[in-house]
Amino acid sequence: MSTFENPAFDGHERVQFCHDRATGLKAIIAIHSTALGPAAGGCRLWTYASDDDALTDVLRLSQGMSYKNAMAGLRLGGGKAVILKSPGYRESEALFEAFGDFVERLGGDYVTAEDVGMRVDIMEVIARRTRFVSGLPQREGQAGGDPSPKTSWGIFKGIEAAVRFRLKKESVAGLTVAVQGVGNVGYHLCRYLHDAGAGLVIADIDAVRARRAAKDFGARTSTQDDILFEAVDVVAPCALGAILNESSIPGLRAGIVAGGANNQLATAADGQRLAAAGILYAPDYVINAGGIINVASEYYADTDDEGVMRRVSAIGPRLYKIFEESETLGRPTNEVADEQARRIIDEAA
Ligand code: NAD
Repeated sequence: MSTFENPAFDGHERVQFCHDRATGLKAIIAIHSTALGPAAGGCRLWTYASDDDALTDVLRLSQGMSYKNAMAGLRLGGGKAVILKSPGYRESEALFEAFGDFVERLGGDYVTAEDVGMRVDIMEVIARRTRFVSGLPQREGQAGGDPSPKTSWGIFKGIEAAVRFRLKKESVAGLTVAVQGVGNVGYHLCRYLHDAGAGLVIADIDAVRARRAAKDFGARTSTQDDILFEAVDVVAPCALGAILNESSIPGLRAGIVAGGANNQLATAADGQRLAAAGILYAPDYVINAGGIINVASEYYADTDDEGVMRRVSAIGPRLYKIFEESETLGRPTNEVADEQARRIIDEAA
């Protein structure tokens, strides 16, 4: 399938296919939009069934980054990269340096960072060859380092906003939240919720992680099959995408879905399904923007950790406005957010 015919192609500005013979690097960098600034988004290291699958993924993810960055009020456009773990892939510093060379050649139109499969130490290798990289070790008095706790803080503020809007409560104290996945994001989210007095139900396919969260926060452990359908106040998906779909939505018992996983809706129509079922959905790319806000603050070196926390806290009021507009217009929250994001990008263009 050609790039332009791919259903995930959305007027992307540039799609760069990268191959380095010496190291075997195969990568695709997709720049969806630079209307708001350099296209920023992480690099994913992944095994794809086919090159077409990799292309679809990078096109979809880079568009998502445009929306996420626009809604977070960042001076960044949307981009993403994938490095293909194809047969014969061998991790080496030279391979990541070659990737850095490709990023550098784009002259700053794309800024890379961590995504699934990447690590801070790999970012340091990439940074030997390009300035256009973020997610490096934190320097004294500056933003940087692992973005996950910032992502979790934004989700916590988003849950508070949803609770205020739907349940008319000023705090999560006394409420129960089901957290699907207690990895980097889910674990820190549990900490914030626990500290604020919420009860927790958790599930993780990794038994060690599940036990750690249960022990540290007195959480009840559920199963991977049941976690979404627990009788709780809020469900916070923090593991996989596409978990809100035709078959799962009718079984949900919580009145609020607000969590950090990317691409939670299997299709846009699932946003309508949630709204029709009376469930308040916090659009994922709005509530989980804390990590990219941290990355942007590091890249522009314009604030410290406390400043990042303040910027991330703005996710709460931003979501609240989306909930209000959704109610006024009688339209699902995901549609309201998509429209706002497109408007911000179009106006800048
Ligand atoms: P992670 O890999 O550290 O954690 C995910 C956890 O989910 C793991 O512990 C895994 O075992 C568990 N899991 C997987 N399948 C599961 C299932 N079916 N049921 C229960 N648990 C399951 O990843 P992360 O960094 O915490 O990211 C979590 C989600 O948040 C992802 O969708 C990611 O794209 C998104 N996200 C992360 C960040 C960030 O800052 N890390 C930012 C924005 C969005």
